Amino acid sequence: QRGVVIVGAGMAGVQTAVALREQGFTGPVTLLGAEPHQPYDRPPLSKAVLLGKAEDSAFDVDFEGLDIDLRLGTEVTGLRAAVHELDTEAGPVPYGILVLATGAQPLTLPGTEGVPGVHLLRTLDDAARLRPVLAASPRAVVVGAGWIGAEFATAAREAGCEVTVVEAADRVLAGALPAEVTEPMARWYREAGAELITGAKVAGVDEGRVLLADGRVLPAGAVVVGIGARPATGWLDGTGVERGPDGSVTADAYLRTSLPDVYAVGDCASFPSGRYGTRLLVHHWDNALQGPRTVAANILAGEPAQVYDPVPYFWSEQFGRFVQYAGHHGGADTLLLRGDPAGPAWSVCWLRDGALVAVLAVGRPRDLAQGRKLIETGVPVDPAKVADPGTPLKSA
Ligand code: FAD
Repeated sequence: QRGVVIVGAGMAGVQTAVALREQGFTGPVTLLGAEPHQPYDRPPLSKAVLLGKAEDSAFDVDFEGLDIDLRLGTEVTGLRAAVHELDTEAGPVPYGILVLATGAQPLTLPGTEGVPGVHLLRTLDDAARLRPVLAASPRAVVVGAGWIGAEFATAAREAGCEVTVVEAADRVLAGALPAEVTEPMARWYREAGAELITGAKVAGVDEGRVLLADGRVLPAGAVVVGIGARPATGWLDGTGVERGPDGSVTADAYLRTSLPDVYAVGDCASFPSGRYGTRLLVHHWDNALQGPRTVAANILAGEPAQVYDPVPYFWSEQFGRFVQYAGHHGGADTLLLRGDPAGPAWSVCWLRDGALVAVLAVGRPRDLAQGRKLIETGVPVDPAKVADPGTPLKSA
């Protein structure tokens, strides 16, 4: 069997290596990761690890036992597809089959790179830097009211910080959810004692202060920037790997790239969703778990055998709430509320042509589990039953 080389030792890269072995691949597997740390899970970084409730979040994987050649501290800088070779500082690495799993990089706030006290939250090193900062309970300013911003604000409030969240859009999670859904979520910030300033652009940060474009000045002992992430694919410039305007490697339905023998998976790759009729770029954990199983199956089959067409899923823990989402509501024609968004537990269901296409559950994990199955089957549902929180979704 030709050897498989995986670039990126995050969730998607590690899961690809593990899935290859689980599915019976006996050839050489090499996993190259730029970070020096034992591969680790990211979701705890904005939760338990940040608050010091967990030391780290290393994956419980026996790389040696699985005969996976794990090379840490190894950044891949180039790809020469014609000769099936990668470039690293330690020299070229040949591949038979290549899997791109380089994940995403957080966007930075122009002009604030390298300013003392300004943090990002993507890596274990970022979390390790932030932990002692939080423990000193500074005034914290969070730039961006997205998933990461909300989770960091939650942790900072728990650590006793005064927290101000500045968001350029006119509402929280503007890129992810419609206004009727985000309106109740904005209230969570205030209930948790965090100040939320929407429709405000940051003009600059200097040590100890955040300057807003409208002239306001916010004192800040710590600044955390959570304004989104972009696929970490810059190193592929000039290599012939096709990418989209969002920077993602544009994989096909089998997670193959435009180059022969090269696959892409996880946060760095987008794929055509047959289910939703659109290309999806998913920056969530479950996609970095499921996609690798498809990649491994296709590598083992030696031909395009398994299509990747998941119902995307993610969760977020913010302000004492467990928020879960399954599906994709982009093409939905109907939005139905299940329960009162002012209360502790409610859900939102999106329908298209009478079938459920997406569900958001706040403190209602059963809605999520049952909704996810309904989305998978695509059977028509009764809107009146869907809108009744007393009727189990599976009976709708
Ligand atoms: P990554 O985890 O980014 O891993 C890619 C790896 O590749 C990195 O280690 C990187 O150093 C390495 N790499 C990059 N370029 C190169 C190169 N040229 N050479 C060698 N190595 C390279 N999702 C949820 O669903 N729920 C959550 O609650 C949640 N919480 C999160 C909290 C935080 C703080 C963060 C950052 C993310 C969270 N996510 C969550 C998202 C989830 O963690 C990601 O979707 C997942 O990590 C993606 O895995 P990946 O392997 O594709 O990318």
